[in-house]
Amino acid sequence: MRKTLIAGNWKMNKTPSEAKELINALLPLVKDSSNDIIVAPNFVSLPIVASLTQDSNIKVAAQNMADIEAGAVTGETSVLMLKDIGVSAVILGHSERRQIFQETNKLINKKISLALQHDLLAIYCVGETLEERESGKFLSIIEAQIKEGLDSISADALKNVVIAYEPVWAIGTGKVATGEQAEEVHAYIRGVLGSMYSPAIAEKVIIQYGGSVNPENVKELMGKPNIDGALVGGASLKPDSFAALVNYNK
Ligand code: 13P
Repeated sequence: MRKTLIAGNWKMNKTPSEAKELINALLPLVKDSSNDIIVAPNFVSLPIVASLTQDSNIKVAAQNMADIEAGAVTGETSVLMLKDIGVSAVILGHSERRQIFQETNKLINKKISLALQHDLLAIYCVGETLEERESGKFLSIIEAQIKEGLDSISADALKNVVIAYEPVWAIGTGKVATGEQAEEVHAYIRGVLGSMYSPAIAEKVIIQYGGSVNPENVKELMGKPNIDGALVGGASLKPDSFAALVNYNK
């Protein structure tokens, strides 16, 4: 049985003071949840959020990290820095990183390997643009993202990988994928993982859906057999709506 993982990607929202307020409001609302919970604040808010969640059921993720451990890379943040402040996960390959910062499957693969070497949970985002969906080739694009992004990742290391399927056309648009559309891709991703590793190993991988998830549509999505959680943007910025998502099955 796969455990449901609800994660909030705060993106470039919330100052450290606002992040503190948000996490303090959220903690009591989700403390009895049966689901796994992650929040991903911006780098400057990570220390305060990591410290306030230390003894709680909320884990903290970064939204990105550098592909090397240390060095002359102005403006970047390393895995060692994240580990040092108690971060336990990292979102990698988000479509905003791919589109705005030209991150490639190859670069993201390097980051995933490094995160896994340091025992961080890697949330690896994949997903097609509207153009790619309409071209009818979206499944092969997602297959390439999975195969190239996870190149040389061992079956053992895969235990610390979560896949997040985020169709780019559904992110921040209010245009959520239907349960059927998402399930088709999730089942496909599990099939690709099955061919790379084994069906038994693929069965264990958590595959989250992301893109306009909200308290109204979460149940339908989570009801699908291959959807094991959600990666939430906008609706994770308010304690009540994120708590409603985390507690959707209560
Ligand atoms: P929205 O939930 O705002 O569509 O964002 C999804 C997302 O990109 C999470 O990583």
